[in-house]
Amino acid sequence: MWTCLVGHFSLGRLSRDGVRALQRHGGGWRPREETRPCLAQMGCRWHQTLAAAPLHQVVGPSIRQVQAMDVERLVQVKWEDGSHSLYPFVWLRDNCQCPVCTLHSAKARSLLLSQLDVNTTVDQVTLMEPTKVSIVWPDQHTSEYDADWLKKRCFSPKARRAQQEELFLNKRAHWGSDLQIPTASFEEVLHDNKAALDWLMALRKVGIIFLKGAPVKQGQVARLSQRIGYLRLTFYGHTWQVQDKLGANNVAYTSGKLSLHTDYPALHHPPGIQFLHCITQAHQGGESEVVDGFHVANQLRRENPEAFHTLSSLLVDFTDTGADYCDFAVQSKNHIIDVDCDGQVVRINYNNATRDSILDVPLEQVQPFYSSLKAYVDLMCQPKNVVTYKMEPGDVVTFDNWRLLHGRKSYVSHPENLRHLEGAYLDWDEVMSRLRGLRKAIHRES
Ligand SMILES: [Zn+2]
Repeated sequence: MWTCLVGHFSLGRLSRDGVRALQRHGGGWRPREETRPCLAQMGCRWHQTLAAAPLHQVVGPSIRQVQAMDVERLVQVKWEDGSHSLYPFVWLRDNCQCPVCTLHSAKARSLLLSQLDVNTTVDQVTLMEPTKVSIVWPDQHTSEYDADWLKKRCFSPKARRAQQEELFLNKRAHWGSDLQIPTASFEEVLHDNKAALDWLMALRKVGIIFLKGAPVKQGQVARLSQRIGYLRLTFYGHTWQVQDKLGANNVAYTSGKLSLHTDYPALHHPPGIQFLHCITQAHQGGESEVVDGFHVANQLRRENPEAFHTLSSLLVDFTDTGADYCDFAVQSKNHIIDVDCDGQVVRINYNNATRDSILDVPLEQVQPFYSSLKAYVDLMCQPKNVVTYKMEPGDVVTFDNWRLLHGRKSYVSHPENLRHLEGAYLDWDEVMSRLRGLRKAIHRES
């Protein structure tokens, strides 16, 4: 079906008035009668805007023509810049933005799937304004779509990639030993939106950023987590104190060396972010080491594809048993290297201390597993991959626990100068949520 030309915009206004009238009367969703003849009178092929466009202050993308392609069951939108987008009928009907189909106060769909005809056709497709498309469905339900809303949801591979990158920021900046760890002011991040956004962007892209100048007392990681939303409670408590403790329930609570690891692979959903605030530092030793686990995994994939395949396909058992916030007996099965459906590395799960002696793999895969793990760990320990730093009191290091492996050199414990870090976990969903919110707020302010 080809649809028609509208050379004036009164139709759009009438239609919107109609919408308001319907809302007031709470009736079924039908356009008011006076809008119907206008639609019915038009018999031409393309629906496009004409010379009246300059009357409108058009911001964002604008549309030249719309067309329904009945055989393919697609609506084609031709943009002013000459490009075009295709939208399936079923998707358009499913995503009707009217107040019957969408609960605007929740920005959520109220249309039920049971109400959706997945084989729907369209009666009319109309370009109301350069920035608005209207569709009348066979049951005379009418939907309107804004041009910028449609543009953002274009199904072309390029547009989808751009949209996904804007939502998830999955492109990372990989690094080795030459990384200059980015730094920001703790107080500025707490009080300034731009500083907070820059912090979270660096946390996502680089995977690690220092915040300097935090008060040298407990409670700062909790304050920082409130900048995001809330922290992640685990069996080690809301926040936890990294100190040399008698009868330690975790290897971190000793003065010994900690080899490179991610925290908490004994959980099936390990914490995404870690904050560590240095309150007291050891005089001797206690330097920190970090490695970009994604970067090293990609090196392994190039240099030893078989080892990469083993570590990304074999499920390894992890265990953590004890008592802290309350008693716990945690068990998990994780890949050492998690990849997504496109083969991109998305999470490293590795802590040699909590890797279980129970190894649920066929006998003949045990040796290949050890050889593969050794190859990955040898690679991550190469000097070209390791960044070393020593925290000072008032430093808060914030890093991506799904990506970085971190470790610590042993230190000399002095009772009168007990090394003390306070830590907390957060999850990526909450951090990305705050990042998107800050980005929007700053866009509004500028
Ligand atoms: Zn609707």
